[in-house]
Amino acid sequence: MILSSSHKVCEWVTAFRAAHLTIGFVPTMGALHQGHMVLVKAARRTCDKVMVSIFVNPLQFGPNEDFNRYPRTFDEDCDLCRRHGVDIVYHGDPQDFYPEGFSTKVRVDGLTEPLCGQGRPGHFEGVTTVVAKLLLRARPTRAFFGEKDFQQAQVIKRMVRDLDIPVQISLVPIVRESDGLAVSSRNRYLSPADRKSATCLYRGLCEARERWQGGEQNAGRLKQACRDLIQAEPNASIEYIEAARTCDLFLYPDDAEVSPPWVLALAVRFDKTRLIDNAHFTE
Ligand code: AMP
Repeated sequence: MILSSSHKVCEWVTAFRAAHLTIGFVPTMGALHQGHMVLVKAARRTCDKVMVSIFVNPLQFGPNEDFNRYPRTFDEDCDLCRRHGVDIVYHGDPQDFYPEGFSTKVRVDGLTEPLCGQGRPGHFEGVTTVVAKLLLRARPTRAFFGEKDFQQAQVIKRMVRDLDIPVQISLVPIVRESDGLAVSSRNRYLSPADRKSATCLYRGLCEARERWQGGEQNAGRLKQACRDLIQAEPNASIEYIEAARTCDLFLYPDDAEVSPPWVLALAVRFDKTRLIDNAHFTE
């Protein structure tokens, strides 16, 4: 079922809850792929009803970012949802989300400042504002987020905790193409040559993981191992490669020793396309 008004969503959610059915919620911006479908499968496994929202949220894009050209593939998305047993596709409408006079933002401090927060000012505020609205509308039992957007997931967990939003947040591991590139709606922007080179993100993360498993703990050397592989691709432009403590995203200085749980996170551009990836180290 496809719904585009918040009233309709509210009616269905009220009916589900009255019938004591649990609701699994997967917020997305559409251009759906296997990465999204793994979230849907996790929701299917654990909840009675599954709702996917599709909304390219203008609030989370900066003025020079890809809001206008972001891929919109609604018919294919609905098809994929149908085939994966999604009960409700909530197709958000900007007017319905941000009517005239809308003037409230949800901001999480601290966690939003490093990593992607540096290169995308205002991005996380846009994300937390829309996710807060979506959670209030969908009133899910559980909401599912991908570890691909690791910082986003940490920020949302903090928002939910700080604002006492009654939902369980579940994180799902990164889905990758067979050559290691994290599946992303933005991969379709890549030229064939850049698509080939883009495997360097994963190769860089794997190299750091090998060093870590070999006993290397120095943050600077772990980052450099990853950087060397990415820099070997002439068309890759590194925005950041950072080693961060998982709980608060404190960035380890180069001369510090990392200790688990920590994350190696990076953003790399190929021409106008910005890709992110990360590896998480728990032991
Ligand atoms: P997006 O549509 O890009 O905003 O993503 C919606 C959700 O899908 C977010 O929670 C993402 O982290 C998640 N997601 C996107 N790509 C992947 C992937 N390759 N693996 C796991 N989750 C993903």
